[in-house]
Amino acid sequence: MADEQRFDVVIVGAGIAGSALAAALTGHGLDIALVEAQPLVVPELPASCDLQGFDPRVSALTPRSRVLLEALGAWDAIGGYRHCPYRHMTVWDAEGTGEIEFDCAEVGARALGYIVENRAITRALLGPVLAAPDITCLSPVRLSACSLLDTGGVRVELEGAGPLQADLLVAADGALSRVRDMLDFSTREWDYGHQAIVATVQVENAHGETAWQRFLPSGPLAFLPLPGEAGQHFCSIVWSLQDELVDGLMSRDDADFCVALEEAFERRLGRVLGVSRRYAFPLRQRHAVDYVQPGVALVADAAHTIHPLAGQGINLGLQDVGVLAEEVIAGHERGANPGQLGLLRRYQRRRKGENLLMMTAMDGFKRLFEQQSLPVRWLRNTGMRGVGRLAPVKQRLMRHAMGLE
Ligand SMILES: Cc1cc2nc3c(=O)[nH]c(=O)nc-3n(C[C@H](O)[C@H](O)[C@H](O)COP(=O)(O)OP(=O)(O)OC[C@H]3O[C@@H](n4cnc5c(N)ncnc54)[C@H](O)[C@@H]3O)c2cc1C
Repeated sequence: MADEQRFDVVIVGAGIAGSALAAALTGHGLDIALVEAQPLVVPELPASCDLQGFDPRVSALTPRSRVLLEALGAWDAIGGYRHCPYRHMTVWDAEGTGEIEFDCAEVGARALGYIVENRAITRALLGPVLAAPDITCLSPVRLSACSLLDTGGVRVELEGAGPLQADLLVAADGALSRVRDMLDFSTREWDYGHQAIVATVQVENAHGETAWQRFLPSGPLAFLPLPGEAGQHFCSIVWSLQDELVDGLMSRDDADFCVALEEAFERRLGRVLGVSRRYAFPLRQRHAVDYVQPGVALVADAAHTIHPLAGQGINLGLQDVGVLAEEVIAGHERGANPGQLGLLRRYQRRRKGENLLMMTAMDGFKRLFEQQSLPVRWLRNTGMRGVGRLAPVKQRLMRHAMGLE
C-alpha cells in the first residue's frame, strides 16, 4: 500500500463551496488539501458586456453571503468586477392578477442582493487559495474511493495522485457527491420532473435593477438583471419547465426561442433581442438525513440541493461553509481533532434546520403555483395581494430571503 500523505482537513471539490471553505480555514495552523477533478485555473474575466461574454451561470447572492465573502477577503474582487445589485423584485402569477413587489428601502437595505457571475466568485476565492502555503491543491485529481479508519480519520484514494489520510474529509463535491454515496449517507430526494434553461438575453428596455419572476403553470421564469453598457440591457434567465417542454425549447433556433420567451414573460422588458448559448440543468431536490459522520462532513450541494426558484442554493452552501469553518477553527484552538463527532454535530445542528426550512418553503411555492384549480388560484392571488399590503409580514419575508433572519 502506497504511503499516505496526512492532512488535518481534506476538501473534495473546489466549486464555490470548497474554495470558500479552504479560504476560511487558511491561516489557522491547519494542514489542508483541496482536491478537484477539473484543472484548477483562475478564470479570466472579460471586460466588455456582450451577449456571449457573460458567464451563463450566475448567482443571486444575499446580503448575508456578501458579509461572509467580505470576511474571507473575497468581496472586493467580486464587487470590483461587473455585477448588478438588485434593489427591487417583482413576482407575479401567470394565472390571475396576483402580483407583489419588494424594494430594498422597505427593509432599510442598500440592495436585496447581487447578481454575480459564478466565475467572478471562483476567481476571487481561488486566487488566494492557490497561493496559500498551508493549502495543497491537487488537480486535476479525482477522488475514487474513501473509507473510515478504525483508528479515526479517513483514507482517501485518488486518480492522478497518491492516497491521503485526513482527520476530517469534507465533501464539497456537489449534488452528485461521490463521498456522500461511498460513505453511505442516506438522502431524501425527489425528481421535480423539471429542468432549468439558463442563458443570457438582451432585452429592449432597462431592467431597473429589478429581479423579475413570473410563476407559470409549467414552472417559474426568472429574469435577473445584469450590468449593461452603451444603452444595451442584459438579463440572465432561469426558466424552469417540465421535462417534456424543455427539449422543444432547446431545439428552437434563437429567433423562435426569443419569441417564446417574450410571450412567457409578457414582454415586461419589451422585446427579447438576442440570446446566448442555452444550457439545461435537471432539477432534483435532495437532502442528506445526516450531514456528518466521525471524520466526515457534507457541505453545500453535497448536503442539499434545492429548486433554483429563489436563488438560494449557494447562499445556503456558503452559510454551511462559514459555520463548519467556525467550529473547526474553534475546536483546533482548544486542541480538538477537526474530525471529532461532537464538533461536527454542532455544525449539523446549526445548519440543518435552516436548510430544511428553506427547502420546504421553495418546494411549497413550486407546488402552490402549479395548481390549476380555481379555488387555489383565487387563494394564491388574494394571498399575494394581501401580503403586499401587510408591511410587517412582507418585511419578514424579505429579511428571511435576504438571509437577515
Ligand atoms: C439553473 C440553476 C441556477 C441556480 N441559481 C442560483 C442562484 O441564483 N443563487 C444561488 O445561491 N444558487 C443557485 N443555484 C445553485 C448553485 O449553483 C449551487 O448551489 C452551487 O453551484 C453549488 O456549489 P458547490 O460548490 O456545492 O458544488 P459544485 O459547484 O457542483 O462544485 C463541486 C465541485 O466538485 C468537483 N468534484 C465532483 N466530484 C469530484 C470528485 N470525485 N473528485 C474531485 N472533485 C470532484 C467538481 O468538479 C466541482 O468543481 C442554481 C442552480 C441551478 C441548477
